[in-house]
Amino acid sequence: MTWDFSTDPAFESKLQWMREFVREEIYPLETLPLTWHSFRRMIEPLKEQVKAQGLWAAHLGPELGGQGYGQVKLGLMHEILGGSELAPPAFGNQAPDSGNSELVALAGTEEQKQRWLTPLLAGDIYSAISMTESGTGSDPRQFTTRAVRDGSDWILHGTKFMVGNANRSDVHFVMARTDLDPEANPYSAMSMFIVPTDLPGVSSRFLGTMSDPEARGVVHTHGEVTYADVRLPAESLLGAEGAAFTLAQQRLGPGRIHHCMRWLGVCRRAFDAMCERAVSKSLRGGLLSEKQTIQNWVADSAAAMEAARLLTLKTAWKVDTEGVAAARTEIAMIKYFGATVMHDVLDRAIQIHGALGFSTDLPLEEMYRWSRAARIYDGPDEVHRMVVARNVLRGYTPRPVPTEHVPTRRVKAMERFASRLAELPPDAGR
Ligand SMILES: Cc1cc2nc3c(=O)[nH]c(=O)nc-3n(C[C@H](O)[C@H](O)[C@H](O)COP(=O)(O)OP(=O)(O)OC[C@H]3O[C@@H](n4cnc5c(N)ncnc54)[C@H](O)[C@@H]3O)c2cc1C
Repeated sequence: MTWDFSTDPAFESKLQWMREFVREEIYPLETLPLTWHSFRRMIEPLKEQVKAQGLWAAHLGPELGGQGYGQVKLGLMHEILGGSELAPPAFGNQAPDSGNSELVALAGTEEQKQRWLTPLLAGDIYSAISMTESGTGSDPRQFTTRAVRDGSDWILHGTKFMVGNANRSDVHFVMARTDLDPEANPYSAMSMFIVPTDLPGVSSRFLGTMSDPEARGVVHTHGEVTYADVRLPAESLLGAEGAAFTLAQQRLGPGRIHHCMRWLGVCRRAFDAMCERAVSKSLRGGLLSEKQTIQNWVADSAAAMEAARLLTLKTAWKVDTEGVAAARTEIAMIKYFGATVMHDVLDRAIQIHGALGFSTDLPLEEMYRWSRAARIYDGPDEVHRMVVARNVLRGYTPRPVPTEHVPTRRVKAMERFASRLAELPPDAGR
């Protein structure tokens, strides 16, 4: 019997340290008027404390300066870090840098690791993953950004949309078409390039978003990037030519689990606010916690969060034990399930606070606006549902008569049990 839902006590004590550290040292920073630069200065001493605990850049193996924890432990850590957008940078595992460093660790040459991975892990530089093109993110086969050989160099040309931290990054990891034959298999027609952002021809504009209309995010902003005939040396190619889809899948799988665990951290904070309000506020002669609608919200949220947590951890466990490819259905499932749970919990938390919940006096409205993106980024819900349905339905065979058809089953049962039925007295069964 191998089912076990417990956390190893030594690791639980690390998690306990993290919970307190994030609550005491990070949450207060949210209330200060920080910018991208001042925030980074403020967290310098915090980073040292995290390193002293051996929790820095825990997503990578020990040979790369990380802890090699695997996805289950990482998931449990992200659940804590997810409570504040400001927490992951203090732990050296903020998106998209964490996924990008995994990408270089996975496919980079020694020179590429030296040049990009080492400073990324140290938190000395920032990076972006530049894949989506407007209106085609759900179907990357339609990407048109291309890289064409010119001697030993590549010439990169195209425009990418909604690239996280595009404008603040030192380097972009860009997916571009390298096989321009329209008949080419799209899954092997794209390659991944490492593009320093100071190269001539790279330009970006900030995009305001629903959660950050002024594009002033302390941790994340988004941008539209143009690569206008950017000349790249041969060593800019990451991994094999044509391997971008495979690399992206390997990068995005664990990344999605981390997103889902971070969402549970968001849920927990909103849920705590909702429950605290329920037991604190009396209206129309009774505490909100005594009203059945509120009780339903608490009960439904608790059950949904538990389900999302178990599904996420099970997915992480499957990645650890069988690999990313084997867990593809579960990864897709937690993506849309977790995003919906987060949305619903936040919505209820805002509702129970009334106008206060809608105001910026509480962090809930900001969390709500940011959480809306979860149903879109890393592939929209509809695509993940399609993947799950397709994989589930593969396990079924078409039948002219339903397997459960009672008259058909009765004929078979009559044949099978004929001798025993014949022995029964005439009134048996009445
Ligand atoms: C906050 C945020 C951060 C992001 N960060 C990055 C980043 O760092 N790098 C990057 O490259 N990209 C990034 N993206 C882009 C993201 O990955 C894409 O937005 C996503 O893949 C969807 O692509 P799209 O926006 O082009 O939508 P489209 O592909 O135009 O799809 C639009 C809508 O069509 C519907 N749809 C699509 N396919 C189907 C289907 N099969 N069945 C039914 N309906 C369907 C869905 O409702 C979908 O939302 C980010 C997006 C957001 C919102």
